[in-house]
Amino acid sequence: MDLKKIFENNKNWVAERLATDPDYFKKLSNGQNPEVLYIGCSDSRVSAEELMGACPGDIFVHRNIANMVISIDLNMMSVVNYAVNSLKVKHIVVCGHYLCGGVKAAMEAKDLGILNPWLRNIRDVYRIHKHELNAITDETLRYNRLVELNVEEQSYNLLKTAAVQKAHLERDLRVHGWVFNMHNGELIDLKIDMDKKLKEIMEIYDLGN
Ligand SMILES: [Zn+2]
Repeated sequence: MDLKKIFENNKNWVAERLATDPDYFKKLSNGQNPEVLYIGCSDSRVSAEELMGACPGDIFVHRNIANMVISIDLNMMSVVNYAVNSLKVKHIVVCGHYLCGGVKAAMEAKDLGILNPWLRNIRDVYRIHKHELNAITDETLRYNRLVELNVEEQSYNLLKTAAVQKAHLERDLRVHGWVFNMHNGELIDLKIDMDKKLKEIMEIYDLGN
């Protein structure tokens, strides 16, 4: 992509926005009040706002390789805490996608250097669900299932945080697990039973809110 083209695109975008609303940027400058925190993969093919039809100001976004929620990731935890405690989002979405390179890499026997500790967390998901995954003989289907299970486990990791537990009790913050199907563009809701899972999780991870 020609970087000069990006600045041309930007000028056109500004003109289009102003044509529909002369106060567009004035309103945008007034602050943000998003209701959704979206946690997705960095993959360039998964454009968070575009696939949801969202506009600037609608979604607070965090992206990393394979949409991981890792408790000692200061970046992720800062985003979660700010979104939940300050922006008071009503929903947190963990969105994975089929054909995820991060998930694929975690299924292969390979030393990837600095990526090893990151992908280790996906290997842990595989270990937790080893019996289900090993029973799937078709490699693509097993890969797809690991993408889904990874989304579920990362959603559960959110339920293990004090911020989410507290906001759920106080104002019914909801956590969702979705998958973007790159083959046809469809967004799939994995329909995680948050209340049931939270009950299970609180047996061990109750942070006393
Ligand atoms: Zn990915």
